[in-house]
Amino acid sequence: MDHFLYKDGALFAEDVPVSEIAAAVGTPFYVYSTATLLRHFTLFDEALEGVDHLVCYAMKAASNQAILRTLAQAGAGMDVVSGGEYLRAKAAGVPGDRIVFSGVGKTAAEIRLALEGGIRQFNVESEPEMVVLDATAREMGVVAPVTIRINPDVDAKTHAKIATGKSENKFGIPISRAREVYRLAASMPGLEIIGIDVHIGSQLTDLAPFELAYQKVAELTETLRADGHNIRRLDLGGGLGIPYARDNQAPPLPSDYGAMIRKTLGHLGCEIEIEPGRLIAGNAGLMVSEVIYVKSGEGRDFLILDGAMNDLIRPAMYEAYHDIVPVVEPGAGVEKVKFDIVGPVCETGDTFARERLMPPVSAGDLVAFRSAGAYGAVMSSEYNSRPLIPEVLVHNDQFAVIRRRPTFDEMINRDTIPEWL
Ligand SMILES: *Cc1c(COP(=O)(O)O)cnc(C)c1O
Repeated sequence: MDHFLYKDGALFAEDVPVSEIAAAVGTPFYVYSTATLLRHFTLFDEALEGVDHLVCYAMKAASNQAILRTLAQAGAGMDVVSGGEYLRAKAAGVPGDRIVFSGVGKTAAEIRLALEGGIRQFNVESEPEMVVLDATAREMGVVAPVTIRINPDVDAKTHAKIATGKSENKFGIPISRAREVYRLAASMPGLEIIGIDVHIGSQLTDLAPFELAYQKVAELTETLRADGHNIRRLDLGGGLGIPYARDNQAPPLPSDYGAMIRKTLGHLGCEIEIEPGRLIAGNAGLMVSEVIYVKSGEGRDFLILDGAMNDLIRPAMYEAYHDIVPVVEPGAGVEKVKFDIVGPVCETGDTFARERLMPPVSAGDLVAFRSAGAYGAVMSSEYNSRPLIPEVLVHNDQFAVIRRRPTFDEMINRDTIPEWL
């Protein structure tokens, strides 16, 4: 559920007409709903009620300061995957003891940054990383709290680019080697083992792969405890999917996910962490764009928008589907027509949808991409020297620009010309 609904014939973001935001900031832009962000966070928080837990929002999904502040004030922790994200989380007011640091390639500098600023735990992904973490912590005279990410060799049944839990993926340590690697970690004085970490992929639409992975984590917890390790925290990753095509997809609810976690892991008495990103931010954001031209082609009509693949890359990168709806509500019974919906960038990959049935729209009309809140703005670029598009946050009947569009001068002046030219 989200808070982008038609009222009186027009699409609203909470209590603000989307067209009003377009008039104020120009198109294209992203708009997020505070109520939707909070609702999704709360669903996860309530799904684990009664269990000692922390919901760590995977901020790579959407990392604007205002979004982070909104979730942090509701009690969210953050899952970060770079030094930049760590600093962003801190800047938004998240205390270090609510930040977990994931990622296969943490540099010594990033590790130092997090140890200096405070960290809940590092989710360690390899032995060489363990060596650097241990050395850095000892150098600084501190002990780094760690979980080790295990790769459970489970097929997440999602898009290949976002599956992370098979043995051929670059993530974590094979579960078959877990005992050996935990023994090594326990021998390092700069590390304190606190638990186990797992994350098998993104946009999972079935609980079965999660359950399989968590059963393996449960078994491993018992084994490692028998080996003498004090396993007291389980980080279960993120990955719960969202319904991109509303009519025909119903991914599991956070409440079902929570119930499955209790069932598979509840008896262990561990603190539980989860790291949802997409499910918190995805349906909390729209990308709004204007139709520049309707171009008639051979056997098909093209909707050429002012938004492009550099603004929302998911269709080009993951063959992702987004519902695309007119901002003015189509009349009841209006006949849908087929469009290829494209951006102005000079490559065929700049296609959002092919032969998409939608209500007729014309040049100058606004359209909204639903479910664009996660992996949208954060993956945008200035390809074709198109400025990064603004982000807007709505709260009831108020809205605020939370990242403005850069000017062309700002973009050009980031470059410097060497003195020999
Ligand atoms: C990407 C990622 C997440 C979030 O995944 P979603 O599908 O957005 O929920 C969580 N944890 C880790 C380690 C990740 O890499």
